[in-house]
Amino acid sequence: MTSSIYIDGKWRPAIDGATREIRSPADGTLVATVSDGKIADALAAISSARTSFDSGLFSSWSWKERSVLLTKIALLLERDIEIIANLESGDTGKRIIESKYDVADVSATFRHFAKLALDHHDRVLDSGLPNVTSKVTYEPIGVCSLIGPWNYPLLQISWKVAPALAAGCSFILKPSELTPSTAIHLIKLIEEAGAPAGVANLVTGSGAAFGDTLTTDPRVDFVSFTGGLPTGKRIIIKAAETVKRVALELGGKNPNIIFADADLDVAIDFAVTAAFLHSGQVCSAGTRLIVERPIHDQVVQEIVRRAKQIRLGGPADLTAETGPLISENHLKKVEEYLAKGISEGAKLLVGGTRCTTEKLSTGWYFPPTVLDDCNTSMYCVQEESFGPILTVEVFDTIDEAIKLGNDTIYGLSGAVWSRDQTKCERVSKELRHGTVWVNDYGPYKPQAEWGGFKASGNGRELGEHGLQEYLEIKHIWVNNSPTRSGWFADKN
Ligand code: NAD
Repeated sequence: MTSSIYIDGKWRPAIDGATREIRSPADGTLVATVSDGKIADALAAISSARTSFDSGLFSSWSWKERSVLLTKIALLLERDIEIIANLESGDTGKRIIESKYDVADVSATFRHFAKLALDHHDRVLDSGLPNVTSKVTYEPIGVCSLIGPWNYPLLQISWKVAPALAAGCSFILKPSELTPSTAIHLIKLIEEAGAPAGVANLVTGSGAAFGDTLTTDPRVDFVSFTGGLPTGKRIIIKAAETVKRVALELGGKNPNIIFADADLDVAIDFAVTAAFLHSGQVCSAGTRLIVERPIHDQVVQEIVRRAKQIRLGGPADLTAETGPLISENHLKKVEEYLAKGISEGAKLLVGGTRCTTEKLSTGWYFPPTVLDDCNTSMYCVQEESFGPILTVEVFDTIDEAIKLGNDTIYGLSGAVWSRDQTKCERVSKELRHGTVWVNDYGPYKPQAEWGGFKASGNGRELGEHGLQEYLEIKHIWVNNSPTRSGWFADKN
């Protein structure tokens, strides 16, 4: 769709006419051609969102009316699940079934915020004075720049778009330049559901200068970003100039701690999924296996055996269990990361070289890879590969397990496996990560907040807090029978 920029209710091409090809990472086929927006397009989208917000048209809708809009969008997402799943798998190379799970989660996100909007109310306070009413109200924060990554393209932007609409904001959506197709479809559904022109604006484009426009313009009130740490740091610095509120969902280096008394069959099965689901391109991937010394050999041997069996393939391959990496650039980064790990002393047990069989050679495939003998001084333990690489560390005591789990600049998620409830409680309390799973790995609920401690970000998405991010708080004090204060003497 070469007119993929949506501003003030109209689809149009980039101002300079530039386009970008989207190619399947599974086999290189052309899946879409979209507008390649530039700074002028971003500025036009900001103008549209600002005019829309300042008109008060949408922000004056009642919470109930906005809740109805969100429910309509959820229904449209459910209606179009096949179309959207195909678009998502086309851009990302992930299996259709995984894209369908994602669309179901997106719809659940809209329903969650529809319910929050319906339940929303101001807080009436006891002023302590008979003639005074005092209340705290929640107003839309204004114009929002919503910037998303490529790994869960539609899901990650839905965590921003749904609360922005629930709150009554106007926004500029910028999906990843690698995976814009489902964002384009979502905007069509928002239009179909009846959002006024100018509320939802979409710019497809790439590059730091283009992105900076969305985070520096004084007409933007709030930036919500999901992506890598370097981009997140840049956004905070850029947004500081205009004192914008910024919410960041960044990377993770997530510990998966297995004690010797765990149900090992289940723990190993989940460890394999945690590390290799979506070929490791998951912010909460369990990429750090931290295992109690006596069971190290047993656990690692079994994970290696399981890793060798994982079948790779594109969306059209119904036997595939996971797909390709997103791009050639990303594949090269994963290879460099692995080489660095090995040069630091990590021991390669399985995987490690890109797939070159005839079936996989046209895509960006990298096999499940396990590095043993790792420790926290290594780059491969500290930094995200965002690929299918699992590092293994050992521990001897619960104190050591907790210390290792927290020995990272990140703090997104982690897990602990043990049959001892007291041990699990202590570890889950002391891990400094935004989500901790006990004897499980991966589930999340739209009703529960998602986000990171430390360098994994600030703010929270989903839950109730995910709506608060899009609201300004105002205290309104009304004196119904004003009299003089008498603070200063009136000598006349
Ligand atoms: P990225 O930082 O490269 O890009 C993310 C988005 O930022 C893209 O849309 C990109 O075009 C845009 N961008 C680039 N430069 C910009 C600038 N100067 N200003 C504004 N926007 C700019 O990240 P990615 O490679 O797309 O995504 C992978 C990363 O996302 C990983 O680190 C992963 O852990 C993280 N992630 C985190 C979560 C979470 O919930 N915490 C979820 C998914 C992904």
